[in-house]
Amino acid sequence: MITAVTKAIIVARTPVRERDATITLYTPIFGIIEARAEGARAPKAKLGPHLDPVRRSLVRIVRKNGFVIADALTENAWGSVKADAPRLRDALAACAIICAIAPREEGDEKTWHEINRQFENGTASARTILRQFGYGAADVCIRCGRSASRWYVPDHAPLCTECSAHIPERDIVIL
Ligand SMILES: [Zn+2]
Repeated sequence: MITAVTKAIIVARTPVRERDATITLYTPIFGIIEARAEGARAPKAKLGPHLDPVRRSLVRIVRKNGFVIADALTENAWGSVKADAPRLRDALAACAIICAIAPREEGDEKTWHEINRQFENGTASARTILRQFGYGAADVCIRCGRSASRWYVPDHAPLCTECSAHIPERDIVIL
């Protein structure tokens, strides 16, 4: 791939230096792609709003020393999800799980369309995404067998609140 145009669910955005960001894209053909957005955080950045998490955008990606986002346009900002605090919390957790478990640079169009539909319907959550990727109900802690409330990213495994108490927050997604 030198240049590609793809639909992408924006699942994470990490600040880089003063004005740039690394954007994590979930795409039908390429799976997860991390791409640089240069100037995305500048005050009047044209791309910025189209690369915020929990939205679907049409993105043009160029490969040069890694991936760079050349252009992006929102297709659906899922405004009704964002206007509803519990659904937004679930959608953000869904994005965190996609980041944690979707394959890197290897797509699956059927799964992508199912997940896109979950965001469209406002039903996307950490647990619906886990089921979509074949992790079942993820409802029992793998360490003690109590009811699971967290996903432990490094082990790809569910944990209860007690067993996850001392794990750094960046390694945990709340279910
Ligand atoms: Zn436990």
